[in-house]
Formats: sequence, structure tokens, C-alpha cells
Amino acid sequence: MEQQHNKSEEPVELSFTCPKCGDDRLYLKQIDITEVKGVFSDGEISLGDEYAEEDLGFICVGCEYELQDEDEPVVGGQHLAEWLQVNCPQTDHSSAEEDQETSET
Ligand SMILES: [Zn+2]
Repeated sequence: MEQQHNKSEEPVELSFTCPKCGDDRLYLKQIDITEVKGVFSDGEISLGDEYAEEDLGFICVGCEYELQDEDEPVVGGQHLAEWLQVNCPQTDHSSAEEDQETSET
């Protein structure tokens, strides 16, 4: 039985390294929009079901640097993935040769 490594378009985990401070932790900046249905005199508010989420971008946990791509904020997973591959050193899984020989007797 032979095991083959299937390398066809398999997603790899990308690493984030902040270009400013070197931190490797990333925040997703997000805004939640919920409809306010009623406000009461005691300060209580009732919220409606209407709910929207808007991605605002990604910031570094360490220095709050906001990821930017040509002065545009990086928004969304696809954009982030592209940004990471360009701006952060990635451990190249494909070129890392593993010289492991399994000799069976
Ligand atoms: Zn940073």
C-alpha cells in the first residue's frame, strides 16, 4: 500500500506576522448592527431580530496596526489570505522536503 500526498489545491494555514511589531495574533474588527425596537425609561432596551454584520478589517493584537493593501483596508478572508502570502513570511509546506525513509523489513 502506498500513501500519496495529495497536493492539489489543498489549503494551508497561513501565518500572520505583524510588519510593525512582529506579533502573530490577529483580530477581526467587526461591527454588529441590531435594530433597537424600544427604549424604556429605566434604561432597558429591547432589540429586534434585524441583525447585520459588517467586516471592517483586521488589526494586530499587539500594536493595533490595521492591515492595509495599497491604502485600502484588508477585508474578508480571501483578501486576508492574499495579504498574508505577500506580506508575511510563510512556512512553505510544499518545498519543505522531508527526507523520511520508511524501511520495512
Ligand atoms: Zn503589531
